[in-house]
Amino acid sequence: TLLPRARAGNLAQDSLAEGASRARVAFLSCVIPCRNEARNLALLLPQLVVVLSSLAREWEIVVVDDGSTDATAEVALRWRDHGVRSLELSRNFGKEAALSAGLDVARGDLVVLMDGDGQHPPELIPDMVARWAQGADMVCMVRTDRKTESWMKRFGTRLFYGLIDRDRRYRVPAGAGDFRLLDRQVVEALRALPERSRFMKGLFAWVGFRVEHIVYVPPPRPHGRSHYSLRALCSLSLTGITMFTSWPLRAASVVGGALALVSFGYGVVLAVSYMLWGNEVSGWTTIVVAMLLLAGVQLISLGVIGEYLARVFDEVKGRPLYLVKRSREAASRERQP
Ligand code: UDP
Ligand code: MG
Repeated sequence: TLLPRARAGNLAQDSLAEGASRARVAFLSCVIPCRNEARNLALLLPQLVVVLSSLAREWEIVVVDDGSTDATAEVALRWRDHGVRSLELSRNFGKEAALSAGLDVARGDLVVLMDGDGQHPPELIPDMVARWAQGADMVCMVRTDRKTESWMKRFGTRLFYGLIDRDRRYRVPAGAGDFRLLDRQVVEALRALPERSRFMKGLFAWVGFRVEHIVYVPPPRPHGRSHYSLRALCSLSLTGITMFTSWPLRAASVVGGALALVSFGYGVVLAVSYMLWGNEVSGWTTIVVAMLLLAGVQLISLGVIGEYLARVFDEVKGRPLYLVKRSREAASRERQP
């Protein structure tokens, strides 16, 4: 069964209608977006199968192959007899799209999202499920140890969360990655969001529900390197900021307003000095500096508008988030421990 007896008993005593039904739920889906993770996946799947078998009456593992060029698809296929489904996308669509694809096909009453690179240890899933059984709708794993990351990445992360955390009605917590457990209700809420630019961390925060955090120290990657270069991270951050905040637009207006005020003051000073002392043509420096400053500010503002326009363009095109090349069911969906 999904829960140890003691915990199920507690829930019954709580006489929470929802809690009681949760104690009975037994279908768990595990969604793993993978891009060239054959070797890591081959290490992860056996561990995961053991954990899930002892945890849930019925479960499935959904491997979303995000345009891998290595043997990722074959590894997933090899585990087909052990409850692994695979969804091959037609090319690389990015992790956010792969996660959306996984959420679309997952059938579980609760869905665990995890990376295929071994940085999200399956041993933690029972703790997550326990929190869910106690009433959490979303259980979010938070990394603590960032010492292994470069100072650049840590600084960038800080800056990013500082910039995106403007809306006090919902918060995008720093350190919270994509290792999460979602209740079916949350999955449906996420699937109902129509936007094309998926910034999952933001969407998870936006939907709300009862979120609980568990702290963990991520192990290093057994094989390969992270797919997120500094450039990729910057681009993802920009998507996040433009999809979830509009303060850059307002900042452009504020800077424009401030500059207009300063210009007005300076204009008065110039006019008065002209009337008092006449004009001895000078001020070349002033002209050049003012021109360059204004040109810079204008171009930045234009760039900000351009970023938002690009998001609007993406939304308006309305292309699908991902295309599926092939979908393979697990050999047997039901497994009894
Ligand atoms: N990933 C993916 N598509 C991509 C890039 C990454 O599905 O375009 C997967 C990758 O295979 C891994 C997970 O997303 O399972 C996290 O990627 P990675 O470990 O490179 O990111 P990091 O842990 O550095 O954030
Ligand atoms: Mg990783």
